[in-house]
Amino acid sequence: MRLIFLGAPGSGKGTQAVYLAENYGIPQISTGDILRKAVQDGSELGQKAQVIMSNGGLVPDDIIIELVRERLTLPDAGKGFILDGFPRTIAQAESLDAMLGSGKAIQMVLFFDVSEAEIIKRLTSRRTCSQCGKNYNVISDPPPASGLCVQCGGKIVQREDDTETTVRKRLQVYEEKTAPLKAFYNVQKKLYILHAEQAVERVRAEMDALLAQL
Ligand code: AMP
Repeated sequence: MRLIFLGAPGSGKGTQAVYLAENYGIPQISTGDILRKAVQDGSELGQKAQVIMSNGGLVPDDIIIELVRERLTLPDAGKGFILDGFPRTIAQAESLDAMLGSGKAIQMVLFFDVSEAEIIKRLTSRRTCSQCGKNYNVISDPPPASGLCVQCGGKIVQREDDTETTVRKRLQVYEEKTAPLKAFYNVQKKLYILHAEQAVERVRAEMDALLAQL
């Protein structure tokens, strides 16, 4: 299974990708997670990416494309993968097509359809474990009073880019650079729409039904 999860930040791609990765035994490749790890490690890549990420911008295409190219060569990606948060620009999508060739082409692109008002609500109320990345939501899934992650004991924080000003910037960047990918994959007849404003379980059921077609 070679899949792309496409959608605005906060549309639920990561949540469904974690489920799918566990149930189908294929890796979730999240460029956001890889970059956050690099920032935490203080690597050269992390230092370059940090300012861009905290401002809600996009890391340059050439850097991201190389990062994904390397990740896809790891053995676990041989049996398939879920790309979560990549591609985010037409240039990234074209490079990905070239990288995979016709033999290993993407089979399905799932577009997570959520309104802008819902996205802003979800992202500004999101809290995240600084250690394992597990997400909480102060409205629908509040973190424990201790402020520590139930999964790993790490400290739960608000991501620097989940504040309202940065969320609005991220949405603007998304509309400008990433939304055009819907048309790109529609032309390739790979685009499928998920009604992602529903409860997590209903989105999951819709997704499973679509994937059963593969
Ligand atoms: P995410 O966790 O997917 O929302 O990504 C967090 C941030 O990482 C984004 O706002 C971008 O700054 C950066 N990023 C993640 N994936 C990409 C990508 N494919 N292209 C450019 N920047 C990215």
